[in-house]
Order: sequence, then C-alpha cells, then structure tokens
Amino acid sequence: MALNPAPPGTGVVFRRTDLGADAEIKAHRDNVVDSRLCTTIGNGNGMSVGTIEHLMAAIAGCGVENVIVELNGAEVPIMDGSARPFVFLIECAGIVEQNAPRRAIQVLKQISVGNESRWASVSPADHFSLHCEIAFDHHAIGTQSFDYDSRHSSFVDELSNARTFCLAADVEKMRAAGLALGGSLDNAVVIGEDGLLNEEGLRYDTEFARHKALDCIGDLSLAGAPLLAHVESYCAGHAMNHQLLGALLDDETAWRWTDMDALGAERLDAAPQVRHAAVAASA
Ligand SMILES: [Zn+2]
Repeated sequence: MALNPAPPGTGVVFRRTDLGADAEIKAHRDNVVDSRLCTTIGNGNGMSVGTIEHLMAAIAGCGVENVIVELNGAEVPIMDGSARPFVFLIECAGIVEQNAPRRAIQVLKQISVGNESRWASVSPADHFSLHCEIAFDHHAIGTQSFDYDSRHSSFVDELSNARTFCLAADVEKMRAAGLALGGSLDNAVVIGEDGLLNEEGLRYDTEFARHKALDCIGDLSLAGAPLLAHVESYCAGHAMNHQLLGALLDDETAWRWTDMDALGAERLDAAPQVRHAAVAASA
C-alpha cells in the first residue's frame, strides 16, 4: 500500500494497481458494499477494497483531506490491528496545506438509529466529539467508554494505538466459516475465557472502547467531509455506524454544508480542524 498526494477536491480515493490504471474507487458512504465484520467499499463492477476503517481513521485523525491510496490487492493490510502504522506512514510522508476552501457537514438535528441493546446517534454541535460505550458479557472487557473531543483530544496519542479485539471463541467460529484466516495475536487483542491471550497486555486501560471510537471515526469519515456534531454510540459496530451516517445524509433537513474557513475565523476553538492537507510524498 502506498499513499500519494492528490489535488484539492479529490477526497480519499483507492486505486487498485493490480487491476489497471482506472481501477479507482472513492471512499464514500455511497460505495459501502459490506459492513458486517469490516468496512468494504466497491464499485458494483466487481472491484472492491476491504478493511478500510483503520486507514480511514488515520487519514481523518491526521486531518488529511486529499490522498490517493494505491493498493495491489483487495484489502488494506491489517498491520497490528490499530491505526498506528498508517499514522506513521502519514507522518513520514508529511502533510501540506492546499489552497482551497474546506467544507464540513454541519448537523442540524438529532438523528438516532438502533434499539435498546445497541444504538448510535448524532446531534448538532460546533465541533466534532464522540462518546463511545461498549458492554460485553465478559469480565476481561465489561463495560467501558471513551470520550473524544476534536478541540482537545489527540487522535494520535489517545486513539491511534488501540487495536481491534475479538473473543477467542468467535475466532474459532470465523475460522470454521473461512474468515479471519490471517488473524493472529500480532494483529488483534484476543480474549480467551480466562482473559487476554496476548502476552504484552493492553496498550491503554480502555483499549477496547478506544478501538470502537477509532472504528467510528473511520466509518463516519466516509461522509466525505468532517462532521460538526456530537456522536454517541452504545455497543455499535461498523454496520450501525454506516446506518447512522446513511440516516443522517439521506435526511436533507438534518445537515448542511458549511465553510470551515469562515467558521475558523469566527471561532478560534475550531481552528485545529481547519486544514487543507494531502500526503506530501509517497510513503
Ligand atoms: Zn476496527
């Protein structure tokens, strides 16, 4: 996988180098074709790119708006199951400002999806924030939550290292179904009946909730622009994140485009979000 600079207005575009020069697909919620275990985008002609969520989170979390992602296969490398290797790649490449206005999606009313056992909602706010809560019937996970606020949280320090996690019992079921064949303790936190199977332990005390927050940021970035909104989620996964984004964007009375430059001039607290950026060099 390589990250390449892109002109303003490009967004995040995936290019499958194994399928020829025009095999491109934009990372946008209209192109989501599967969100059961991970987020997969496709163009309807058999071209797809899977497991994009951690890379998307890194791109959004680093404030990058325009980038072409070259891939020689159908899946983004899982790496260590977190967004850290992708943040490293972006930091190696560097970020430049571009001379173009940046737009955001301003949420105008509350939208909720789900039911009592799992739900997600988005409501109006002047900057992005997220409250993510999970509740697992397993003593090693239990109930935990994490709060992210774009004004004073650090995506790189507080979220990017959080790894994906799964129960050992589920891994067995997935393997039986032919899935997760490359999965190992190198790219996920695996929880057995007695606790963590990974010898190195956790990277954060609330690594599980933080990873859910990371997933949510990656999935919601498929809006194609930053959200000015407060997001809350309870036991939500990729499917519910995309359901929420769809319910929001399909309701024309629920949001509007806003120019983040004008917003930044009015409110200095929004300034860190105002950045026109692309990956400056291939990495
Ligand atoms: Zn994930």
